[in-house]
Amino acid sequence: MEAIKKIHHITAIVGDPNENLKFYRDVLGLRLIKQTVNFDDPGVYHLYFGDHNDTPGTVITFFPWTNDNKGRKGSGQVGRIAFRVPKGSLGYWKEQLTTQNLKVELTQLFGKDTLEFDDVHGLELAIVEGNAPADNHDIVGFHGSVLLSANPEGTKELLTDIMGLKQLDIKGDNYHFETVGEEKHHIISSIPPQAAGRFGIGTVHHIAWSVPDLDVLKAWQDTLHESGFGVTEVRDRNYFKSIYTSEKGNVVFEFATDGPGFDLDEDKNSLGTALKLPEQYEHRREEYETSLPKLDL
Ligand code: ZN
Repeated sequence: MEAIKKIHHITAIVGDPNENLKFYRDVLGLRLIKQTVNFDDPGVYHLYFGDHNDTPGTVITFFPWTNDNKGRKGSGQVGRIAFRVPKGSLGYWKEQLTTQNLKVELTQLFGKDTLEFDDVHGLELAIVEGNAPADNHDIVGFHGSVLLSANPEGTKELLTDIMGLKQLDIKGDNYHFETVGEEKHHIISSIPPQAAGRFGIGTVHHIAWSVPDLDVLKAWQDTLHESGFGVTEVRDRNYFKSIYTSEKGNVVFEFATDGPGFDLDEDKNSLGTALKLPEQYEHRREEYETSLPKLDL
């Protein structure tokens, strides 16, 4: 198999959808690119955010739960999610986040200066500078993420031997990997195994890896199956096709095709401005439009 080149999207569980929208749009400057429902639990929104340049590998998506089922961070989850900003922007972001009364900590988590902070629902985030300067400070995509593995050796084997990520130097208690595509997404996995987490508000549900098309997706399905992983059938997510597996450290890995893309059912310029439903739920539109909280667009 050809190596996995980049992250496709990361999906987390958060609280109130308007608080979620306000944070990612107004504080981080991302763009709401799709309002739909969770295809597996359609009474809940599924909100997708990207950057303003349609950069592939920037999509962070949320299931905003309106109950108060807080999650517990731990193994079987993706941990801190890092965004990348242009070279020379870290000072700007430190000030920007501090002005919003967020607690910001400067660490070396990703092997270089890393601003760690939490979103409005306790989801762990970070900002790291990339190597390219720009004429603004806008987020240009993911820098990478932490994986909370129950079996760091097993996770490492899948990432390097099967998925083709490059292993970088071990720093402290962490494995450090890098995807081989031009985005060079960084994956950190702590070497001591983590205690089990529980999904809920403030936790990440899964990470999706980008594959070019359906043929390659099916080849990954075979490869994972032959390597002893349980893997789902191909699921139609409308904007992409997906398979899911639970890796050896219990983190949910999705493999998702790059196409057909988010402009499948709305114009590129009006992405995210209206509730979009897949065919199978269109007949229940009225019900969802009544029950889902109105978004302050
Ligand atoms: Zn997904």
